[in-house]
Amino acid sequence: MDHLKSWLADYAAAGRYRSLRPLTARRDGRLLVAGDAVSRYLCDFSSNDYLALSQHPELIRSSREALEGYGTGVGAARLMSGDLALFHQLEQEIANFKGCAAALLFGSGYMANVGMIPALVGRGDVVFTDRLDHASIYDGCRLAGARLLRFRHNDLAHLEELLKKERGTGRGLVIVESLYSMDGDIAPLAELVALKNRYSCLLLVDEAHATGLYGQHGAGLIQEAGLADQVEVVVGTFGKALGSYGAYVAGSQELREYLINRARSFIYSTGLPPAVVGASLAAVRLVRNHPELRRQLAERAAYFKDCLIREGLPGIPGPSHIVPVMIGDGATALRLAEECYRVGLFLTAIRPPTVPEGSARVRFSLTLHHRLDELAEVARLFMTTCHHLRINASF
Ligand SMILES: *Cc1c(COP(=O)(O)O)cnc(C)c1O
Repeated sequence: MDHLKSWLADYAAAGRYRSLRPLTARRDGRLLVAGDAVSRYLCDFSSNDYLALSQHPELIRSSREALEGYGTGVGAARLMSGDLALFHQLEQEIANFKGCAAALLFGSGYMANVGMIPALVGRGDVVFTDRLDHASIYDGCRLAGARLLRFRHNDLAHLEELLKKERGTGRGLVIVESLYSMDGDIAPLAELVALKNRYSCLLLVDEAHATGLYGQHGAGLIQEAGLADQVEVVVGTFGKALGSYGAYVAGSQELREYLINRARSFIYSTGLPPAVVGASLAAVRLVRNHPELRRQLAERAAYFKDCLIREGLPGIPGPSHIVPVMIGDGATALRLAEECYRVGLFLTAIRPPTVPEGSARVRFSLTLHHRLDELAEVARLFMTTCHHLRINASF
């Protein structure tokens, strides 16, 4: 096992080493990290629990009801004896929510992408991905064995160039996210739909970071753009704004039946725990009925970006509640995140290879756990920390 040790040493030397930091408490957007020198609560800016639903009494109640009704696990894959009517109920809710004919649950967003993409395309087909697409999308593409062509982030001209070149070579699948978690920016969905139609491709949109936050019913950016009937495959997770766990794929009835028969991560894996599905059911209903939640998050994000501008952060902020602050060099971003940790802010440093060389950043992920008065204070503390370390940050 010597090669593990030397690999780890090399990885650490390159400044890429990652380690776990277990929490002993996690509540109201505050974290208590085990083994910290001083016992104190950190303010969490790295969570995707955008609407603070993970601690909502309605999710807890619905989760507990499912737990008590069906037990802790279903004991088998759904195609065996692990299928519950409760799962179908959630799938129906999701289909209605997303404006699609049908939906299918997966164990997680990661499992959805690594199972669904190889079911849809294979050798002889071509996949066009945005360079910033999530790792699970790339892993799905690798498993599929299809030819992979990456276009520059949100660059329609580059995508069209690739589509033109590949015209007529097997099936084409374009895969994008609707809201990108690294840049906090939004895909040009209407233009993407026009392009995939022009070149007769399928379009897969991953709404991981947008589900629950956009559109009339909170279904996501596809709903906001009025394109629900134009996108063939939509995937999203229950683990982010919906405060639960698991994922869904939404689309046509045939897509659902096809994936039940073809997606290996669906076929060969145990059904979700009932408690998780109970929480997800409550979350979808809550999001539909409470548009004020997403409005409040948008207001809080706008306020925080204003605070950073007032504190002197140059550049133009992005459109969403995910607020990256560009640092440039990976080691500097890490040093800043560590200093922020010391002063009580839990932020993630995002470095290459996750983002392109020279565009390392720290990222604020805003949630309804953060109060307005607290955000002004956080912006001040963050900018003071940048000045102390002589770091030139910008939006
Ligand atoms: C988080 C994320 C996933 C993975 O979802 P999980 O449910 O956490 O496995 C997939 N795709 C994108 C775009 C994501 O941001």
